[in-house]
Amino acid sequence: MAPARVPRIVQWLLPGFTWRIPTKERVLYLTFDDGPIPEVTPWVLDELAHAGAKATFFCIGRNGAANPGILARIRAEGHGVGDHTWDHVRGRRTDTSTYLGSVARSSGITSRSLFRPPYGSLTMAQVRALRRSFRIVLWDVLSGDYDPRVDAAECIRRVIDHARPGSIVVFHDSLKAEATLRGALPKVLEHYGRAGYRFEALPFATVG
Ligand SMILES: [Zn+2]
Repeated sequence: MAPARVPRIVQWLLPGFTWRIPTKERVLYLTFDDGPIPEVTPWVLDELAHAGAKATFFCIGRNGAANPGILARIRAEGHGVGDHTWDHVRGRRTDTSTYLGSVARSSGITSRSLFRPPYGSLTMAQVRALRRSFRIVLWDVLSGDYDPRVDAAECIRRVIDHARPGSIVVFHDSLKAEATLRGALPKVLEHYGRAGYRFEALPFATVG
């Protein structure tokens, strides 16, 4: 099972990526990968609205193209949108021109400035090419919602035990993660709301 927190040594060794937004303020950056889809994303948006929370959605281009109304709702409600390739390709198994083609096809629908690679997988050549246009965002806390061995209680624990001010937390608005996400997200929002945290969209345009 993937660890809930990315070790700082890994973050330090891979400086081309955004792992966390350094701050002492009580703010968390929730992110939702792999949507938008009608079965899950509107529910996530309802939960975020209920909690007064903003987040960032790393959308698969194919899903965004199939669900333009949901993508428009994400933007209208003040959330961030990032790209996650057209068809969820794995960088280290895909040649650079094919990979960049998938991003180019997708980014016109999703985002031309913010990108998260599926599986966190990129070659150095892909990193170099993407960094010309995109801030590449990974995460420091992995909720594990997509993992069938992680139930909602464990998912909540993974987030609450590891998130700190400025953490970027990964969830998935996908069918695979749906049951765990529906159990965990309201509790995570409630926990940090009570602790005086704000939830914000990633400030990709203003961080260095
Ligand atoms: Zn993904």
